[in-house]
Amino acid sequence: MLSRVIRSRSYKIVVPSTQFLRLKSSVTLSSTVNSYPTDHTNANVEPYVTPSFVDNKFFKSDSKEWFDIHDPATNYVVSKVPQSTPQELEDAIASAAKAFPIWKEYSIIKRQGIAFKFVQLLRENMDRIASVIVLEQGKTFVDAQGDVTRGLQVAEAACNITNDLKGETLEVSTDMETKMIREPLGVVASICPFNFPAMVPLWSLPLILVTGNTAVVKPSERVPGAAIIIAQLAAEAGVPAGVLNIVHGKHDTVNKLIEDPRIKALTFVGGDKAGKYIYEKGTSLGKRVQANLGAKNHLVVLPDSNKQQFVNAINGAAFGAAGQRCMAISVLVTVGKTKEWVNDIVEDAKLLKVGSGFDPASDLGPLINSGSLVKSHEIIEDSVKNGATLALDGRGYKPADERFSKGNFLGPTVLTNVKPGQRAYDEEIFAPVLSVVNVETIDEAIELINANKYGNGVSIFTSSGSSAQYFTKRIDVGQVGVNVPIPVPLPMFSFTGSRGSFLGDLNFYGKSGVTFLTKPKTITASWKSNLIDEEILKPSTSMPVQQ
Ligand code: NAD
Repeated sequence: MLSRVIRSRSYKIVVPSTQFLRLKSSVTLSSTVNSYPTDHTNANVEPYVTPSFVDNKFFKSDSKEWFDIHDPATNYVVSKVPQSTPQELEDAIASAAKAFPIWKEYSIIKRQGIAFKFVQLLRENMDRIASVIVLEQGKTFVDAQGDVTRGLQVAEAACNITNDLKGETLEVSTDMETKMIREPLGVVASICPFNFPAMVPLWSLPLILVTGNTAVVKPSERVPGAAIIIAQLAAEAGVPAGVLNIVHGKHDTVNKLIEDPRIKALTFVGGDKAGKYIYEKGTSLGKRVQANLGAKNHLVVLPDSNKQQFVNAINGAAFGAAGQRCMAISVLVTVGKTKEWVNDIVEDAKLLKVGSGFDPASDLGPLINSGSLVKSHEIIEDSVKNGATLALDGRGYKPADERFSKGNFLGPTVLTNVKPGQRAYDEEIFAPVLSVVNVETIDEAIELINANKYGNGVSIFTSSGSSAQYFTKRIDVGQVGVNVPIPVPLPMFSFTGSRGSFLGDLNFYGKSGVTFLTKPKTITASWKSNLIDEEILKPSTSMPVQQ
């Protein structure tokens, strides 16, 4: 490819001179570190264009196909995001492939330095990113700050790459040593869901970069704004052109990322249908794939637990983020007399304020779209028809402020007498709906949970160490909490969802993340000293055994 050299007084910068760079008009982002949305827009405000990002440049897509991004609290269109054109997808992948050999040659200490700077910029821009999340995704501002923080923590852990990527060396024979190093794979594609617009791109991106890979990221077409800011910060931190690219769209984009031979690995987080498709197609083409899928997380409460501690925990875990967390508690398993504690949960849930994410008084915001609201209503109705009882009905909830009369709001909802076979138990609702199943013993609880197809998270509340140990040894779920309702490990460990909640062999971030993003290479070298036995210098055709 041709290169153009821009000369200035004291230095020169080589930039790729692609068709892309010549023809695309650059776009300025709609927010800055000091200027970002602090309230909802109205029908008269022109939606901003979500740009794409290739070669460290933001540009407006040439696409004829654009998707509306609605503010879930008002349903006004706040932005438009393109289905990236085939040429734009090609440009993004080509840019990442071209940058790979250059980025791979950056010393580890240089990549670490950029990661430190990236962390600093993420922290400085936290409120800016959070505000865009509130506008596009709907969660409360404090919760959106948490979304950024959990991603930031992965970026912080990635700064430890100088330790995490250390190889192994052994003198295996006289004057001969073998060292094992791990090398990057090449271009890695990351496909993200709507519910954590900052955290999920940051689950993979920092490690993709520090391990020496390059990236093509496809944020959810429903909430791309946070990923766009993250890309800007990465470039500002010193990530060179081409190392991180952002494309948009739906199936056509995903299919290109799966099929293009330059992409060596795919990281996916989202629902079961897309995840299975991407995993099966990606692995059949010989790619590494890690796919975090849907969930149904249970919390078991034993009669010996601290009741108030439990009630506080369940309300946050079930209804926070409007239940749109992959680790939200969606099933409460009451053991024995704890079924009577449901009244306390209901009374506390009634106190939660549902409303605008920009209102500091709100405890939870709206659902992502009207389709999700309709689906939740259908599941609630169907489950009630089939034997469940509505202990708290959040349907029809409208915030007092008229501006939000068209928002996708569902108040906290509690269904009791839920059983397997009812939709509320069998399906992931992804809404502030808590299904309560009552059992008589801890063994029944374990049997119920182990028979569920998902294995993302589970929690037990008890004051008995031996009951907790009995439970944690027998439960077949990847992330287990004891008196901790949402047991997502910090990123010095990995996110270890299992069974139906994960496809692949190596989990996101932590040691598994580094292993997923690198391949081992062994180098065996012999440097003979001058004092060696003459015998060894004689040629031999027998199998070397290196004693
Ligand atoms: P989704 O599967 O609809 O979308 C995820 C991504 O896949 C998006 O980028 C989307 O454009 C793409 N996509 C969707 N359908 C596709 C298809 N048929 N073919 C190819 N690509 C497709 O998921 P979502 O609704 O954005 O997110 C919610 C889901 O994500 C929930 O099921 C939730 O449990 C899950 N989730 C899981 C985890 C986890 O760690 N297990 C974390 C967050 C979210």
